[in-house]
Amino acid sequence: MNVSPKIWLDGELVDESEAKVSVFDHGLLYGDGIFEGVRFYNGRVFRLEEHVERLFLSARAILLKMPWTEQEVCDVVCDTIRANGLTDGYVRLVVTRGSGGLGLNPYLCEKPSMFCIAASIQLYPEEYYENGLELITCSTRRPSHATLSPQVKSLNYLNNVMAKIECVKAGVMEGLMLNEAGTVSECTGDTVFIVKNGVIITPKISDGALDGITRSVIFDLCEKLDINIIEDTLTRYDVYTADEVFLTGTAAEVIPVVKVDDRPIGDGVPGGVYKELLAGFHKETATTGMQI
Ligand code: PMP
Repeated sequence: MNVSPKIWLDGELVDESEAKVSVFDHGLLYGDGIFEGVRFYNGRVFRLEEHVERLFLSARAILLKMPWTEQEVCDVVCDTIRANGLTDGYVRLVVTRGSGGLGLNPYLCEKPSMFCIAASIQLYPEEYYENGLELITCSTRRPSHATLSPQVKSLNYLNNVMAKIECVKAGVMEGLMLNEAGTVSECTGDTVFIVKNGVIITPKISDGALDGITRSVIFDLCEKLDINIIEDTLTRYDVYTADEVFLTGTAAEVIPVVKVDDRPIGDGVPGGVYKELLAGFHKETATTGMQI
C-alpha cells in the first residue's frame, strides 16, 4: 500500500497532493523566506533546538516576524515525523514571507506561511563515506556579508544551485566555494574542514561559512576526543596540501574528501582523524536528541 506522506502546512497535517502554497507567496516570487534541514535518528531529533534557534535568527535577520514560539516550531517538527510513522530521516522546515502582491514590499504580505516535510534521505551513496568524494573549485562565489548575509539560511539558494551545476557538469558531487577575497568559505551545501599536522582547521564564519549545526558537533567532539581544532582563513593551497579533508552537513553527516581539483589529498584515501570523528558522530546521533 502506498501511503501518501503527511505534510504539516500552516497548522494542519495534509496529504502531499493538498500541500500547496499560493503562486503569490513571496517565498516563491522572491525567495523571501528561510529554511532548516533537520535529521532524526532512531526516534530522536538531532540538535532540534539548535536548528530552531538558527531558524529564528535567520527570521530576525530578514525582519520576518515569526507568529510561532520556538517550542511550537519544535512541536511541528516532532508532530510531522510522528504523523509519517518515521524513526530515521530528514525534515525540511520552511517559512515563507507569505502571500502578497506582485511588488517586493514584504509588509504587504498577509502572514508568514510555514510547512514541514519529513522524508527519508541519502545525500551521497554509501561508498563515498568509505572511499571519499572528489571536489572541484566552483567559479561561482559565496555572497559577501555586504550583499546577502551568508549566515541567513534563506530561500535564495540560486548561488549555490549555480555552483552545484558546475559540480554536476564536472562529474563530481560537491565543490568548494570561495568568497570574494578568494579564500575558501565552504561547499555548496556542506562545511569544509582540513587536517594539517594533527590540527583541524575550518574557515571562519566571517569568511562566508554557514554557522553549521554539524560544524558545532565537530567542535564538541574535538573537545571530547582531545583533538585540536581552530577556525582560520583557508586558501586553496591549504586545502590541496592538507593531510585530510572532510565535509559536514545535516544531510551529508561527515564525509571524507580524497581529491580536490585533481590533486589527491594526503594519501588519497580517507584519513584517521576523519574515521575517529565519524565514529564519534555516529555515537552522538545514536544517543542524543529530542524524543519524538
Ligand atoms: N553550508 C550550506 C550552504 C548549507 O546549506 C549547509 C546545510 N544546511 C551547511 C553548510 C551545513 O550546515 P548544517 O551542518 O547546519 O546542516
